[in-house]
Amino acid sequence: CGIVGYIGNENAKEILLKGLDKLEYRGYDSAGISLLTDEGVEVFKEKGRIAVLRDSIPTAADGHIGIGHTRWATHGVPSKRNAHPHQSTTERFTLVHNGVIENYEQLKNDYLSNVTFNSDTDTEVIVQLIEYHVNKGLSVEEAFRSTLQLIKGSYAFALLDNQDQDVIYVAKNKSPLLIGVAEDFNVVASDAMAMIQVTNQFIELMDKEVILVRKDGVELMDLNGERKEREPFTAQLDA
Ligand code: GLU
Repeated sequence: CGIVGYIGNENAKEILLKGLDKLEYRGYDSAGISLLTDEGVEVFKEKGRIAVLRDSIPTAADGHIGIGHTRWATHGVPSKRNAHPHQSTTERFTLVHNGVIENYEQLKNDYLSNVTFNSDTDTEVIVQLIEYHVNKGLSVEEAFRSTLQLIKGSYAFALLDNQDQDVIYVAKNKSPLLIGVAEDFNVVASDAMAMIQVTNQFIELMDKEVILVRKDGVELMDLNGERKEREPFTAQLDA
């Protein structure tokens, strides 16, 4: 399983699909990507191989910001319906996740009894909870951090807001995640292998950190929003 993300000036689709190809060795049962454009957010997902996903995406699909996922099912059978990305009810928020949310049933009962779910995953609870917090008046960053503070379990997350094409919200706890940095774009990946073709500069994310990834920079913080700085390292891998 794995996660990728891209924000910059290029067509995100190819970069995301190539990144997912490189993560194939980690194993998966389904895959998906999401692209954000002026027209809104588009989600493509399929059970099975990356090649099947690739064939399902119209050639015209474009977007300079996107996220992608290969799934190793833990909650909900491998299927198109349970494949990531998952969306909130209004489709404002789109999320990919690797890991296991141990208290998802509790969270669902406590906060989301009125919500109709579109999948059987633990992950959908989290994207619905982010929307719940935004509906309560929090900013997206606050809603993301507040949701993370409620989670017991492991996660690598990448989140899109269809009202903001300038940022990918990313966080991790006990699942691997790196940010690849470059001059006029930035990427997200479970593993440097996935993005070594586009950059060899990576910022390591620690457990319970959040990072806002924009095309011209990143903003790193803890779950309380306390800002931090971290220099990238150079990955020594053959492209
Ligand atoms: N627990 C999530 C699911 O079953 C994520 C699985 C993964 O790490 O790919 O959908």
